[in-house]
Amino acid sequence: VRILGIESSCDETAAAIVTSDGELSASVVASQIDTHSKYGGVVPELASREHLRAIGPVVRGALEQARLGWDDIDAIAVTAGPGLVGSLLVGLTYAKAVCLVRGLPLIGVNHIEGHIHAVLLEARQCGAEIELPALALVASGGHTHLFEVSERMTYRLLGKTRDDAAGEAYDKVAKLLGFGYPGGPVLDKLAPYGDADGLALPISKMKGNALDFSFSGLKTAMLRWVQAHDMEGEIVTRRALMKLHPHPTVEQWLAVTPQTTLDAVAAFQRVVVEELLRRVGRAVEETAARSVIISGGVACNAGLRASAQSGRLMCPVYFPAPHLSTDNAAMIAAAAVPRFLRGEFDDLTLKAQANLTLA
Ligand code: ATP
Ligand code: MG
Ligand code: FE
Repeated sequence: VRILGIESSCDETAAAIVTSDGELSASVVASQIDTHSKYGGVVPELASREHLRAIGPVVRGALEQARLGWDDIDAIAVTAGPGLVGSLLVGLTYAKAVCLVRGLPLIGVNHIEGHIHAVLLEARQCGAEIELPALALVASGGHTHLFEVSERMTYRLLGKTRDDAAGEAYDKVAKLLGFGYPGGPVLDKLAPYGDADGLALPISKMKGNALDFSFSGLKTAMLRWVQAHDMEGEIVTRRALMKLHPHPTVEQWLAVTPQTTLDAVAAFQRVVVEELLRRVGRAVEETAARSVIISGGVACNAGLRASAQSGRLMCPVYFPAPHLSTDNAAMIAAAAVPRFLRGEFDDLTLKAQANLTLA
């Protein structure tokens, strides 16, 4: 069985083909980063238009990459939510049109469940068995959720962010400090050059659900730090660098970033990692979880990976490869495989659900 997955919930247009044996035959991702970077964040209206432009070539690209035609495809999986409604509609409408014309079954997938399946797909490829129940942390630009995944692959929400998502915190702090968008990759690369103890930052204490996350206090602390330092000069220099080189190298960033700022970046990253892993660690103690899955764009973070895999979580931790951590369609097709095998299909009235929840 071959499933073609389509993803367009945010700022990536993606298509991929996955078999029911967990083989990834093709994966194409068209990122809109260059469109949105000058605005310092995703502009929904622009995102929809870019999806419209990209969807045809991306889907054709996936078929070409796999050297397959429509006759080789058994079902279409598409992200139904959560996400930007205008963006979701592009992928959903395209998927429905293909299903109608080709007589293929349609499977609507929850994007967050997709992020979890990215890890399961990869584990399957390596022949690794992820032991359930597991904890799944999904941390991206739009989400920071902690789930318990049962043996029957049902989900229970244990905690979520009360304000910003972890990736959003990276993006906002990078903007404050005068780094480009998205902020996560740059700050992650620079963090090892700073002294994380060079600056004291608050770790949030949650009233109510102790497994919830919060990044607003940290963001405010970073804002205060920026206000207390004369950063105008270095920010202007970094902007000039980005004009010359849209994607500067680490060496180029280091040349325009004083040590105090590198220390602030390192301290920020350390606190984000603590914020995330402390909750996961606590959840490991409080549940019967036998493994931990960490996915979403923030799962690319080197500091997070190193700390999570240091043994502190007391059980095996699984991260997807970076190209499966950020938004992609392989995870959407993979999440649809069990649904296909159970014969659970959606009909063409399937709606885009901007606030779709999991569990
Ligand atoms: P959604 O939230 O709907 O999944 P998204 O486009 O925000 O959509 P992803 O593509 O999964 O999600 O992730 C992008 C986010 O991940 C951005 O906020 C980016 O800054 C963050 N990110 C990417 N790489 C890193 C990294 N190395 N360290 C920290 N954050 C990172
Ligand atoms: Mg994205
Ligand atoms: Fe995502």
